[in-house]
Amino acid sequence: MLTCDARETWIQFLEFAKKRCSLTAYENWLAPIKVIDSSAERICLEVPNIFVKAYLLDNYLKDLCSFLPVTSEGEPAIEFIISDQTNHKQQLPQRTVSIVAEENTEFELKLNPSYRFDTFIEGPSNQFVKSAAMGIANRPGKSYNPLFIHGGVGLGKTHLLQAIGHHVKEHHKKLKVQCITTESFINDLVNSLRDKSVDKMKRFYRSLDILLVDDIQFLQNRLNFEEEFCNTFESLINQNKQIVITSDKPPGQLKLSERIVARMEWGLVAHVGMPDLETRVAILQHKAAQKGLSIPNGVAFFIAEHIFSNVRQLEGAINRLTAHCRLLGQKISEELVEQTLSELFQTRPKQKVSVENILKTVSTMYEVRVSDLKGTSRKQNIALARQVAMFLAKEMMQESLVMIGASFGKTHSTILHACKTIENKIKTDKSLRDQISLCRRNVDQS
Ligand code: ADP
Ligand code: MG
Repeated sequence: MLTCDARETWIQFLEFAKKRCSLTAYENWLAPIKVIDSSAERICLEVPNIFVKAYLLDNYLKDLCSFLPVTSEGEPAIEFIISDQTNHKQQLPQRTVSIVAEENTEFELKLNPSYRFDTFIEGPSNQFVKSAAMGIANRPGKSYNPLFIHGGVGLGKTHLLQAIGHHVKEHHKKLKVQCITTESFINDLVNSLRDKSVDKMKRFYRSLDILLVDDIQFLQNRLNFEEEFCNTFESLINQNKQIVITSDKPPGQLKLSERIVARMEWGLVAHVGMPDLETRVAILQHKAAQKGLSIPNGVAFFIAEHIFSNVRQLEGAINRLTAHCRLLGQKISEELVEQTLSELFQTRPKQKVSVENILKTVSTMYEVRVSDLKGTSRKQNIALARQVAMFLAKEMMQESLVMIGASFGKTHSTILHACKTIENKIKTDKSLRDQISLCRRNVDQS
């Protein structure tokens, strides 16, 4: 009977791969792999580190399946031994059950109960990062490692990080997960240095299956702590344990050692951006519903149009509105929103806006002349453009209606009427809303 040992097919695979990658890639990645053991059903490979394993599986999974024996799940039947890890194991003392119990109580996992995947609203700016986070939560240590999430303040990084924690806690009960801020890591380290219990702390962190680290930017300029963090990081990665990191900037912009930056860039670097208008509205509605508040769509758009740089501010707006409605027993209306949230709305640079800028932008957008905007023509497209210009003037300029009216050669009641008309239309007319947003951005930048 002709049985083929996997060792032979491995050699055939190497021949095959050699023709498909550069010589350097071959020498760096494939040549160092050693066959430790093999049979017709499986092969055992020793790789120098986890990255070589990842490289092999990421680039050659299909080919491995056609050359090597496969498991019943259709995956190549390879057992990996990581040589780093074998060395490491020898250095680490054997841990006993009692240590686990003792350490678990001391390093309790604290998560915000509302930071879960199902409360995280998805939109184009965060879809990718959310699905990467979910991928990791489902298969920790088996996909991207580390996952590095970066983006501005208040855009949901901590929310996603903790959502991974919740998911793992519920779906992989045996895995040991810890979620820390970089600051608490530093504090733990300082305390354990004081109590002479550094070894215990190191043992704890290095025994984790999943380490979630929030706000790594705080490790910058903390040289002594950087080294310990780096050791923990490498020890976990080498053991194929999952690490997820958040930061306010991408790895390359962090003032940390090249070694750690390179390691952080190794896995998947994902950006979380500011949600677009529609997503902001969905977030508002969701947060309001959680508080038992129902916001009319028009009002939600109105708030989301004005708060555009930070999801935390959207939450602040909802909290303030809830308080007002409850305390004063008022219904939510645009007037109430303007009264209660006007301070939050001041983030837009209003002072520099002039009527001329608005007229110029609107005339370009609607392809009408500036003189038409100031004139009296009732042609539909001109009349609409004029109303949009008036609406924007009222919104963007800190001027009275009378003054704005004067710049258009109209009375203040004409301006008021125009504003009401547009406000009503944009509640249902998405394309008008988009046109106005575009004009607004142009005026802001001019
Ligand atoms: P970061 O860590 O990026 O500064 P957080 O994760 O603390 O931001 O998010 C700030 C607040 O905004 C949190 O209360 C969070 O629940 C909320 N948030 C951010 N993005 C979303 C989203 N896409 N869906 C729901 N809530 C969000
Ligand atoms: Mg955060």
